Amino acid sequence: MTFQSTVCPHDCPSTCALEVDIQDNNRIGSVRGAADNTYTAGVICAKVARYAERQHHPDRLTTPLLRTGPKGSGQFRPIPWDEALDRTADAFTRIAAQHGPSAIWPYFYAGTMGLVQRDGINRLRHVMRYSGQKQTICTTAAESGWLAGAGRIIGPDPREIADADLIVMWGGNPVATQVNVMHHVTRARKQRGAKFIVIDPYRTGTAAAADHHLAPRPGTDGALACAVMHAAFRDGHADRAYMAQYADCPDALEAHLATRTPAWAAAITGLTVAEIEAFAHAYNTTARSFIRVGYGFSRHRNGSAMLHAVTCLPTVTGAWQHQGGGAHWNSRGIYKWDKTLIEGLDAIDPAVRVLDMSRIASVLTGSRQDLGDGPAVHALFIQNTNPMVVAPDSNRVRRGFLRPDLFTVVHEQFMTETAAMADIVLPATTFLEHDDVYQAGGHTHVQIGRKLVEPPGECRSNHEVLQALATRLGADHPGFRMTAMEIIDATLAASGYPSAADIIAGRWYDRAESFRAHHHLDGFGHPDGRFRFAPDWAAIGAGHAAMPRLPDHMEAYDHANGAMPYRLVTAPARQYLNSTFTETPTARKREGRPTALLHANDAARLGVGQGDRLRLGNARGEVILHAAIAAGQQEGTIVVESIWPNAAFEGGIGINALTSDDAAYPNGGAVFHDTAVWARAEAMALAAE
Ligand code: SF4
Repeated sequence: MTFQSTVCPHDCPSTCALEVDIQDNNRIGSVRGAADNTYTAGVICAKVARYAERQHHPDRLTTPLLRTGPKGSGQFRPIPWDEALDRTADAFTRIAAQHGPSAIWPYFYAGTMGLVQRDGINRLRHVMRYSGQKQTICTTAAESGWLAGAGRIIGPDPREIADADLIVMWGGNPVATQVNVMHHVTRARKQRGAKFIVIDPYRTGTAAAADHHLAPRPGTDGALACAVMHAAFRDGHADRAYMAQYADCPDALEAHLATRTPAWAAAITGLTVAEIEAFAHAYNTTARSFIRVGYGFSRHRNGSAMLHAVTCLPTVTGAWQHQGGGAHWNSRGIYKWDKTLIEGLDAIDPAVRVLDMSRIASVLTGSRQDLGDGPAVHALFIQNTNPMVVAPDSNRVRRGFLRPDLFTVVHEQFMTETAAMADIVLPATTFLEHDDVYQAGGHTHVQIGRKLVEPPGECRSNHEVLQALATRLGADHPGFRMTAMEIIDATLAASGYPSAADIIAGRWYDRAESFRAHHHLDGFGHPDGRFRFAPDWAAIGAGHAAMPRLPDHMEAYDHANGAMPYRLVTAPARQYLNSTFTETPTARKREGRPTALLHANDAARLGVGQGDRLRLGNARGEVILHAAIAAGQQEGTIVVESIWPNAAFEGGIGINALTSDDAAYPNGGAVFHDTAVWARAEAMALAAE
């Protein structure tokens, strides 16, 4: 076996250093994690370990396709690349002439996390003055909350988890979504006897592996954080000397928290006072307490407020000062890329409108609030994402895609449900078939993945397609005249990194900063170097008026009520990564079928038993799935692990039919875990459906 080094491209903070068995016949064998990478440490998830199943899948797209039947019918015929590109360029030129260039919306996300193949679409956008994309679908709400307090996106090096005496996994499920965290947690537990506490509204695989699991009601984590801080001040565990040096207004915070007692938080979270007191005592009395903040926060209307409240905890206790102490959400603040070449930043016209990607349902169905005084979107050019499945309010997304006056081009690896709505489908390479450079959100390494195998059929990389379109559209920028590797090298040089050759020779480049920088000991990322208990929310987003002045429970969420008594969380499934891997038989088999996890009392009230059919609904839509009785979540909470294709549900309507495209406060963000629904037992008579 010949193992070659590469890097996982998927939308996962772990960004694992991989070793792939490259075989003589242009096929890959096993995939393993690099044992000598200090973060990956030889650990990768099962879905990527069996990547050969995806790489050599018989359903890979291999030729450009032209739609021949109704949108969504899946009826296409193969066409040559030149014809596909000419048709695309002609349509874009015609639409731009008729409606203006902002009627064209390049749309992308994180199907690959490589900087060149993911973000190069922005170069075409900016040069052509097509509509901008506000990238809110994953990180925005969390980022807003983090920046509100800490001011810079950096936290303790995640490898320090192994040096902690208490690890709190808050709002994330790394067993399913970034398995490497668990490796470092295990080291801390084995070597230091560290305790591991998980805070999540249901018993995830991670929660099942923890010493303690707290399951608050969805959207109430801010109240829990406030009660823990209340206890810290009350019990003499607040580090007043640390706050005097590093925080903005500790006295105001203490006064504000006087009424945020564990009893107050218990009424909001549904946790018991004893649970809250026990957690507060464990956290407030452990210097080396490491909070690993997950992405669950980033799926709530009040997620920014909740995450800000959580980052206040290590500021009150002073845990930031200690090895293995503090909080970590993402490392992106360390990279400092100059992405001018990749994204065409020198071609941005600030007058061009920017559309919120999470509100694609409203954008495509003509919302004036979103379109402003500009034209409707008449063309979509999509790379690296599957909005027909993954975007909120999917019934309206579908209506938008079905518009006869919308011309859609999708560049994809598989015939996704979004590709099936396209006028033209272009076959895309996988990460093993093109060059790219990757940064890690969950750790500190930069890595380069080289092309290791030839693509099947006529697949082309995102960069190659952008080059070909740029030529036809007359889009001029140096980035269109360079290979992906040339862009990587030039970007590394412009950003002060070693050369691509040096990074490839070393296999990765560790961008970690000093201990003092990761722990904010030289000051937080605000001009005065102080953490903000009282953030300047107005500087973060237009929805600032709704934000609490100091960390608090923020009532802005989709409340359960008499008509919709349940709160739905659409958490990530272990075998899928968003909608990626839903095409592989092993992942489908292991996930089973779309399932709603219910508290036993709710199941009894609804008259559903294990495996019974269940209908969930609200004003946006209805879905049918099967019930599973689950321990470890509160009454009133329903969890559906996702993201299954719409077609996997009875009636072909998927879970995002229920989620809203409302924007999180204060600066936007999709609110996937923040949905009130009704539920009812569904008769077993399948034929009636
Ligand atoms: S854990 Fe994440 S980064 Fe690592 S192989 Fe799996 S998907 Fe890729």
